Amino acid sequence: RITVAAALSAALSLSLAACGESGDVGSSGDESVGIAMPTTKSPRWIGDGRSMVDQVKGFGYGATLKYAEDDPKAQVEQVQAMIDDGVDALVIAAVDGRAFKEVLRKAESAKIPVISYDRLLLDTPDVDYYATFDNEQVGQLQADFLVEQLGLVNGSAEGPFNIELFAGSPDDNNTRYFYDGAMKVLDPYIDSGELVVRSGQTEMDKMTTLRWDGVRAEKRMNELLDSHYENERVDAVLSPYDGMSLGIVRALKAHGYGDGGRRLPIITGQDAEIPSIKSIIAGEQTQTVYKDTRELALITSYMVNAVVHGKRPAINDENTYDNGEKVVPAYLLEPVSVDKSNYKRVLIGSDYLKESDLR
Ligand code: BGC
Repeated sequence: RITVAAALSAALSLSLAACGESGDVGSSGDESVGIAMPTTKSPRWIGDGRSMVDQVKGFGYGATLKYAEDDPKAQVEQVQAMIDDGVDALVIAAVDGRAFKEVLRKAESAKIPVISYDRLLLDTPDVDYYATFDNEQVGQLQADFLVEQLGLVNGSAEGPFNIELFAGSPDDNNTRYFYDGAMKVLDPYIDSGELVVRSGQTEMDKMTTLRWDGVRAEKRMNELLDSHYENERVDAVLSPYDGMSLGIVRALKAHGYGDGGRRLPIITGQDAEIPSIKSIIAGEQTQTVYKDTRELALITSYMVNAVVHGKRPAINDENTYDNGEKVVPAYLLEPVSVDKSNYKRVLIGSDYLKESDLR
């Protein structure tokens, strides 16, 4: 596997090469990029927005950044307003991946290139490129962590262990990839009986969590514990996102786990958000998947700059992301598993977080 740093520097040189002469690189000064982000409720997206604005400015573009606070209709209106304002490119991290077909037809008529950011825009031919992380690998890293920590991989434990599974928002294309990546790892253990899902809820549509909402995840975990764990212990929980993981921890604590009670299960997450890293340090949530949003913003800005100049940006995936209308050429970055043992090196060592953030 190539490292993120190597991938980035390769992308950098390729993108610059794709932009031709150096005089060709960057905006002439009056071009601007419309950036549509899903919500400020999750710290990760605040970081994405900030990095995107910084990066496109670095290329000499102006930037308009809008957050939709998880309202799909409001987000489409924000994108429409950006088109009306005459932006030169659009970068969209969708609340609902299927909501943009019509508005992007207008972007296409106005010859405004569109980059799908982190989440794939679905059912539309009017998306040029996709910048994201290897989403299937995210799910795989979460599940690998669970089976390793339970001792199932090196055979230090035989189980059976009880596990419950959560998935992300049904309107986010990433949800399926995270789920598939995790289930590739977990299914063999479920089939052999070493992992037991006492609720029986193993199909994705039984476990999705609208808008990745931590309160919804908390409610479902409460229900699972009430219905299936009166005389049983839950040993592991697959959670796809940090905000949900913290809701799951709250439900478990309300059922006597942690704080001198039953040992909390192993609980995964995603995004390396500060509240979750604090929870990991406190021994509650166990793991998260770190995705360096600064690098995602950088790659995306290269893409923007290339397409604005009518050039082909660097991509490293040509055939994974079919949006229902076309296979969108993508650049995939590498996610990294983070737990108590490596958060300092990975998160603080890379300046993604500061030691003082975690106090
Ligand atoms: C992103 C994840 C994030 C989730 C909730 C997904 O589309 O890829 O990083 O945890 O949305 O915001």
